[in-house]
Formats: sequence, C-alpha cells, structure tokens
Amino acid sequence: MHEMSLAENVLQMIEEAALTQDFSRVHTVWLEIGQLACVETQSLRFYFDVVAQDSIARNAKLEIIDKPGQGWCNVCRRPTRISSRHDACEKCGNYGLQIMDGDSMRITELEVE
Ligand SMILES: [Zn+2]
Repeated sequence: MHEMSLAENVLQMIEEAALTQDFSRVHTVWLEIGQLACVETQSLRFYFDVVAQDSIARNAKLEIIDKPGQGWCNVCRRPTRISSRHDACEKCGNYGLQIMDGDSMRITELEVE
C-alpha cells in the first residue's frame, strides 16, 4: 500500500501547484523517481489513476523518469553512484555510504491548461 500513499502525495502536490499557478486541468505529469526510493512504478501508475479519478488530474499521463542513486563515501571523500541502499563505493568498496540523492520522488514538470 506504499504506492497508494505515494500516489496520493503526487496528487496533493499537483493540487497545491494548481492553487499557486492557477490551472484547472493537468494532461501530463513528469515524475522523477529515485532508484533508491523503492517505488513500484506499475502500481504507482495504477493507484494514481484511481486517486486522480475525480480530480484535476483525471486521465493525466504519468511520465516516469528514473533517477540514479548517489551516495557519499567517507573514505574517498567523494560521491559514488549506487543502485541500491546497500551498495558499496565503486572506487574503494567501502560500505555504509551516506545516501545523497536518488531516494525521493518529485514532480519535475506539469503539462496543464
Ligand atoms: Zn570509497
């Protein structure tokens, strides 16, 4: 049910944007999802359709952009690319990286009218 509440969050973000940017209909939503966010995109799409049914985003298309994860290695003192939270540094193999990016979800663009 994780995706259900994420879908509700997305709709909430859209409705907040509608208030400040003054639009009444959303056609496309570009959603950036970090690889570390553990989001099942198939079910997110499904639940989004469900929660958006009676909203300004009904029938809106969901464009999902994958964002790679990034961790910080304390040994190398540099960022490293990771695809899961348990990955090691790609340079030195150190575990216990600090997650810097790719663990969240955000709307990057909305096509509206
Ligand atoms: Zn390292």
